[in-house]
Amino acid sequence: MMTLEEVAAKIRVVPDFPKPGISFKDITPILKDPEAFRCAVDALAERCAGIDFECIAAPEARGFIIGSALAYKMGKGFVPVRKPGKLPWKTVSGRYALEYGNDSLEMHLDAVAPGERVLVLDDVLATGGTISATIDMVKKLGGTVAAVAFLVELSYINGRENLKDYLVVSAIELKE
Ligand code: AMP
Repeated sequence: MMTLEEVAAKIRVVPDFPKPGISFKDITPILKDPEAFRCAVDALAERCAGIDFECIAAPEARGFIIGSALAYKMGKGFVPVRKPGKLPWKTVSGRYALEYGNDSLEMHLDAVAPGERVLVLDDVLATGGTISATIDMVKKLGGTVAAVAFLVELSYINGRENLKDYLVVSAIELKE
């Protein structure tokens, strides 16, 4: 059984991607290694075991990978959060500022029912912008954010500050 430290060591750090000054944390080597992928998802499942929620809402593209694996493992539903124009039906939208740009996201209007408890998830927490847009959409639809979960938290950026109102869980913390 792999340790979380060994999983973390698989993250490939790519300097100056996609822009100068950004230290990109590439999780694809974790996904490629079956033991690492399993250990990562299991660790998140353990941290989310005590949280009462019915579905996981996660943004494309890497949020889908971790979010759907976790939803399957925990027996929850999955809500895709997508770039504008990708979802076929009526949508609600949320804007956000990224560590390296600006964008908006969409969710289907019936993706979250009023009062439904939602775990909001992404692969990496940087500034927290992406996840804040997702949280806004869940709230617009009347849902409750049960917690916010990340595989990797970049604590040197301190996105947690922007998520003070929520329980934030992560499996791996990177301090630089
Ligand atoms: P943020 O909205 O700033 O929290 O950025 C989080 C989103 O952008 C996640 O979907 C990440 O996949 C991606 N991201 C932002 N910064 C990085 C980084 N330094 N390394 C890897 N992914 C990042």
